Amino acid sequence: MRTLIANFKMNKTPSQTKDYLISLLSRFESGKVDLTLCLPYTSLAIANLLCQGRDIRLGAQNLSDEEEGKNTGEISSAMLKDSGVDFVLIGHSERRKKFKEDFRAINRKIKLALKNGLGVILCIGESLAERNTLKTYETLKDQIELALKGLYENELERIVIAYEPIWAIGTGKTPTKNEIEKSVAEIRRVVGDDFSQNASQTVKVVYGGSIDSKNIRQFLSIKNLDGFLVGGACLDPNEFLKIISLI
Ligand code: PEP
Repeated sequence: MRTLIANFKMNKTPSQTKDYLISLLSRFESGKVDLTLCLPYTSLAIANLLCQGRDIRLGAQNLSDEEEGKNTGEISSAMLKDSGVDFVLIGHSERRKKFKEDFRAINRKIKLALKNGLGVILCIGESLAERNTLKTYETLKDQIELALKGLYENELERIVIAYEPIWAIGTGKTPTKNEIEKSVAEIRRVVGDDFSQNASQTVKVVYGGSIDSKNIRQFLSIKNLDGFLVGGACLDPNEFLKIISLI
């Protein structure tokens, strides 16, 4: 079954999320996709209520890199777990760029998420400058090694690596099918070198960046790709259901 992750970013109030979910859930069929909805913190309670008993996992979009205490405005992994969250997005490029999150902080966040029983969606990907100077694979290797430093091999079973080229996010541009396939192979090669061949095959890898119902077909046959992470196109339940029906 393919993995599909929705990133709502900073969109929808709790009431809007409620309307969205009523519309989505009335037409969502279990067993077709492995679906995780990454919502704003404020929408998690209503989503937890509405998604009870449905085949949908809830995700958050960030967490603190500290365990608890004097961190006003932050949310801990234990708080997320206790709110019914199963997964957390870590290291999204918008956080790396706007909030200066680096891969050392990302590594701490991953360890705290795993410690508290959350699954991790780790976002990696090159900038346009790195792509233009042929540094894509070098960038991916560095990011994976810093993010996963000190993890045990069996912990990779709870990690999804989202390959999200920064220049493709929200721009309507995507790499070619061939380019994504090569980056996915490179990601698995690095995991294989750093952990094991088994881990390189079992870790989930998805692609994210300007996916919608019009362009997804061309990416469905990419080798060793487990699924997709969708941002803008998940916000309309009709468009998102169309994507679900295609994958
Ligand atoms: C994202 O925010 O991770 C993303 C993939 O966004 P979009 O689909 O809008 O490019």
